[in-house]
Amino acid sequence: MTHDTTDTGDSLAFGCPRCGHAAHDEYESLDSMSPTDWRCDHCAKVFNVVLIECPHCATETISVALIAAEQPSLHYFACPVCHRPALDHEEAGDSLF
Ligand SMILES: [Zn+2]
Ligand SMILES: [Zn+2]
Repeated sequence: MTHDTTDTGDSLAFGCPRCGHAAHDEYESLDSMSPTDWRCDHCAKVFNVVLIECPHCATETISVALIAAEQPSLHYFACPVCHRPALDHEEAGDSLF
């Protein structure tokens, strides 16, 4: 008897950028702030995933790209919830447009 624990909210969902197939990090194998290659179990192509954890409000955001080089620089990534930069470095406080 398998006990299915689907969508209990703990694992992060993201979509394959090639076929749109939904994937989720059920084993929590993603390290925050470090780009990770992920193989889609639908189209079997590899894409790149970054888990960004906001240092201000702890919101976790997933960014997907075809390859690691296409990921946005974390220096320019702003949290979708509190709109503060994901990298909390000393120069914060300058112009935020
Ligand atoms: Zn796919
Ligand atoms: Zn935030």
